[in-house]
Amino acid sequence: MESGSRLESESWVATRELLRRLREIMQDAGAIQERLNQIVGLIADYLSAEVCSIYASADGAVLELRATKGLRPEAVRRTRLRVGEGLVGDIAAHARPLALAEAQAHPNFAYRPETGEEIYHSFLGVPVLRGGKVLGVLVVQNVVSRSYSNADVEICETVAMVLAELIDRVLDAELGGGPEAMPLRLLGTAFNSGIGIGAARFHHKGIVITRVVADDAGRESDRLRDALAAVERRVSRRLADREGGAGRDDHEILETYLMLVGDRGWRTRIEDAISGGLSAEAAVQKVQNDTRARMLNVKDRYLRERLSDFEDLTSRLLAELVGEDGRAANGEAPRDAVLIARDLGPAELLDYDRHGLRAVLLAEGSPTAHATIVARALDIPIVGHCPEALTQIQDGDCVIVNGDLGQVLVRPDESVRREFADNLAARAQQSARFLELRHLPAVSKDGIEVSLQANAGLLIDLPHVRDSGAEGIGLYRTEVAFMVREKLPDVAAQTALYARVLDEMGDLPVVFRTLDIGGDKLLPYFDLEGEEANPAMGWRAIRIALDRPELLRDQLRAMIRAAAGKDLAVVFPMIAEIAEFDAARAILDEALADAARAGDAPPRALSVGAMLEVPALLWQLPALFARIDFLSVGSNDLFQFVFASDRANPRLSGRYDALSPVALRLLRQVAEQAAAAGVPVTLCGEMAGRPLEALAALACGFRRLSMAPAKLPLVKAMVRAVDLAALQARLPELLEAEAGSLRAAIARHARDCGLTCGINCGSET
Ligand code: PEP
Ligand code: MG
Repeated sequence: MESGSRLESESWVATRELLRRLREIMQDAGAIQERLNQIVGLIADYLSAEVCSIYASADGAVLELRATKGLRPEAVRRTRLRVGEGLVGDIAAHARPLALAEAQAHPNFAYRPETGEEIYHSFLGVPVLRGGKVLGVLVVQNVVSRSYSNADVEICETVAMVLAELIDRVLDAELGGGPEAMPLRLLGTAFNSGIGIGAARFHHKGIVITRVVADDAGRESDRLRDALAAVERRVSRRLADREGGAGRDDHEILETYLMLVGDRGWRTRIEDAISGGLSAEAAVQKVQNDTRARMLNVKDRYLRERLSDFEDLTSRLLAELVGEDGRAANGEAPRDAVLIARDLGPAELLDYDRHGLRAVLLAEGSPTAHATIVARALDIPIVGHCPEALTQIQDGDCVIVNGDLGQVLVRPDESVRREFADNLAARAQQSARFLELRHLPAVSKDGIEVSLQANAGLLIDLPHVRDSGAEGIGLYRTEVAFMVREKLPDVAAQTALYARVLDEMGDLPVVFRTLDIGGDKLLPYFDLEGEEANPAMGWRAIRIALDRPELLRDQLRAMIRAAAGKDLAVVFPMIAEIAEFDAARAILDEALADAARAGDAPPRALSVGAMLEVPALLWQLPALFARIDFLSVGSNDLFQFVFASDRANPRLSGRYDALSPVALRLLRQVAEQAAAAGVPVTLCGEMAGRPLEALAALACGFRRLSMAPAKLPLVKAMVRAVDLAALQARLPELLEAEAGSLRAAIARHARDCGLTCGINCGSET
């Protein structure tokens, strides 16, 4: 033990000496190339390596050998590898170290004859990172087949942090108005629709560490402790500020941060890096880089999603250490900004002023991650899975994010920019006109009344629901609030949440859907018991609820308590058989009986419905109608199963049109049967929020539509403009068509009614 710690402290002393020498070289006024040469010599000596090389990337796409000790000197500035190519390219692409005893046996090894590296067997490379960007790669190589230790990797990473500043300067000096000033089109994945134009603003870009090395480890430790305490205080204060805390969407997110602040393993690793000679801020960033590199390989979704929580926390800590106020939107709130980040935590996004953000662009991210859910609720266009965002965009560049197509236009030509800006201005004008419709009734030109309601899932949705002029919430997706939490909310927390929803909606009706987890809606803390080959058709929604009745019982108890003295409407998702509805209803009746026994005030009125999402239910409608108070048609799932077409697969979107005669015949049949049974029916899939689809549904006989609040004004404008009876009269003849889509015919009718807006785009409008 004794000798172990002596050895460790000796190695820290040596590392500190290396860092001190490095710093001297970096502060030297000599030519940059000369200094890079000295640095590779110094590192090779320190690590007893025959080779030490530095690769740097000016454009984020190609890495060039800039300095080497050990490889042939003529290879410098000649040897180039694309990001992703060879071992060096692999390190840059994944921003993670690679240590290999036999480099040439690695499948990614790319031989470059001019380097003369064939005689070296072992290879250790680490990324050079700054402000979240990969600037280059630092490599050491040995002739013998050597297994590099974790300590070797750590030292290289530490050195890489110090080097980052110098390489940044080299690249900055070279870039000028070079290729980076060219317009560029990047492709990512569309996470939330809409278009945003703004100036690139890198999340926490302001925090670039200038003091990497520190002599007084004790002082740095104290700084770390103080900064951690400050972050803890700040987060605690935010928690305390929450009025009725348990009801806030970000309450549990903040609680998780408090837990992470207290994570000993994490703190110890930062302390170790400080002992190795880094400043507190550099140590925090180094551990962040390590964690990121390790976590990127982790398959477990729960752990991966913890990464963004750690990143969020680290950023707050860094801001504290370099003297910022610890808030994402420190200093001036951004205006007209496209926020760019590797990944983003939901609390970080909530820190920004919504009005200053035009769009979000993520190098990584996930369509079901918490930040994406929050962005959707705030109606912010978002594109993810776009790694080039970090390398190809400069702070302040004009960026157009097209969240409909997953496309990003960087530094667009003036004409392109103007075109998009005009388009956005026209949309904004239209929205303003639509807002004026808010208080007008949704009645068609020929006098048919329609009920337009909103879909919601988070408390931050509620102001939008009210602003949209919705007549109520036709679908409250309760699982969304579960998805942004870190643990299963108990009955009390759920009661507070549902009570808040009912309170904020006042007299307007709310339909709570019981948990629809599984499929693409995963709860980080809920074990789905193994991967499923077809999760959309797997163990989800009512199937989980009936297998884990305590989950459903708790949720229903909470709803009953929250609705004491008020109306309660509950709908069960993914019902495939009458027996499932009966079983769920029995649990609801038990919960009501329990509440009565406990003396709780019951809801004023109760209505219970089923979601029609599974085609099998189509042949059981009469029996179902005898049992339910209302039916909700979930067209997202219903049509994915009818057409066997994964709703989350972008390659299939638009392949089967919801305006095909098949789909509309089905909708008409449901609407007619519901009307005959006297059961109200609501369409609440995404199609209800698209004007043409909504018009077709009305012609099929639907009179209640529920949609995202942002879509409601557009649909209301459509309703008020059209002659519905005329289209309804023509529908039987249109539905006779054997194939194809009725989109053009319905659009023609809308146009004939004088409607211009929202009818020209495809099914993804
Ligand atoms: C649907 O399937 O159409 C629906 C409304 O439910 P969700 O989109 O939440 O699956
Ligand atoms: Mg569904």
